Amino acid sequence: MKLSFKKRIATYNMFAIAILMAVAFIVIYAVVFYTSYKHLDDDITTEKIEVFNNLDWSGDEIIMNKMPEWEEAEHKQIEINPTFIQIVDIKGNTVFKSANLQENHFLFNPTIEKTTFYNAIINNQRIRQGQFPVFNNENKIIGQLTIGVSQQESYNVLHNLLIVLCLTYFFMLSVIYFILSFVASKAIAPVNELINSAAKINYANINSRLPVPQNDDEIQQLATTINELLNRLENSFYQQKQFTSDASHEMQTPLAAIKGIVEVLLRKPRTPEQYQTKLNEVVLQTDRLSLLFDQLLQLARLESNVLSVKKEKVVLDNVIQKIATTHQDFFKTNKINFHNNIPNNTIIQADEMLLERVLDNLITNAVKYNQPNGNVYCDWNAKQKTLTIKDDGIGIPPEQVSFLFDRFYRADNSRSSHIPGNGLGLSIVKRLCEMQNINITVESVETKGTSFHLVFND
Ligand code: ADP
Repeated sequence: MKLSFKKRIATYNMFAIAILMAVAFIVIYAVVFYTSYKHLDDDITTEKIEVFNNLDWSGDEIIMNKMPEWEEAEHKQIEINPTFIQIVDIKGNTVFKSANLQENHFLFNPTIEKTTFYNAIINNQRIRQGQFPVFNNENKIIGQLTIGVSQQESYNVLHNLLIVLCLTYFFMLSVIYFILSFVASKAIAPVNELINSAAKINYANINSRLPVPQNDDEIQQLATTINELLNRLENSFYQQKQFTSDASHEMQTPLAAIKGIVEVLLRKPRTPEQYQTKLNEVVLQTDRLSLLFDQLLQLARLESNVLSVKKEKVVLDNVIQKIATTHQDFFKTNKINFHNNIPNNTIIQADEMLLERVLDNLITNAVKYNQPNGNVYCDWNAKQKTLTIKDDGIGIPPEQVSFLFDRFYRADNSRSSHIPGNGLGLSIVKRLCEMQNINITVESVETKGTSFHLVFND
């Protein structure tokens, strides 16, 4: 059975109340039940004392002394609070029977050795019966005294009480259920409001937020949490938008350049040298486009987590040396002195292939954004497990350092404007580091140089 949240709250609460009420009503009934029977049994016991005071015995024989009280109406009549008395000796002969018993006999157990109370019916009347063994001087049972009193009144009281309790129980439960449903619907009204407001939010009005209730409670927390989620969604939505627009802009620049070059070439016949120069420019722009596509593809792969990271022991100085060898000519062209200061056999935990891509990118940047006769240093702090790639190049204006890892971000520096690039390299580096649990930070002083620190966490 699928109940609405409101009905679930009402039902669960009602179950709890139903159990508590049932326990309370059972206790009330049990107390009244016990008290009324105790009262009857006390009456029977008082009567028994009176009867025993007038009983005598000689050997096994019971002797009755006639008492004036036995002529009382309660012993003769059946109608008003009758008290029935029956004495039977050990042989089964009735020694005495009160007149109100008429031709009836009490049924009793002749072997009973101690006082016993039980219920019986005589002449369609409900009777409470007490049975008492009669002992002679030798402590031998010589007969059984049975005393009965009407329990009709107690029965009626208990019967009526049971009906009243049952009716009250079900009536109160129905009323409580309606009250609980009403209270529950009041309690969840703010949730319904949140649902309605949330349903209205879409991409067109992603800057709208849910109304936050004043009460400092779970619903306020829920609204605040959803609003925070919306903030993150809005952010990533705008980032995505920005990314698409930046990517198209980046593509447009080389495409427009290629188109311009080709149009100029087509305008009139050119010398072979002119064709050569212009076509070289086309190749340059195509390389730029191809690098852009390659980096966009890398980013897409990294974002969709399709790459698996295989962390293993990597000899750091070897990886740096390998990159240095690959870029030998690049260092030479840019007149850069490369210093690999990593001690031999420095072992770290990383994915070798991904780490190579990170270091390649940082070292290439350190060369690109350097100046002739500049230096690039790779240093290792064994205690802090930190690799530093440092250059004494053009540096970055301090207020721009925090944006370096953003996609398509290129520092606005007069000396770097002519250096080719598209601002994607460091965002790829950042993602690759995150995947390998490497903390990457940057420090830079404009015109003095830049340092990237990589802290390796196992
Ligand atoms: P790209 O080099 O293709 O522009 P990156 O993401 O690698 O893209 O770098 C982003 C920007 O950070 C660069 O445009 C440059 O302004 C700055 N930058 C990166 N590395 C250095 C460095 N070692 N020295 C100075 N500036 C740097």
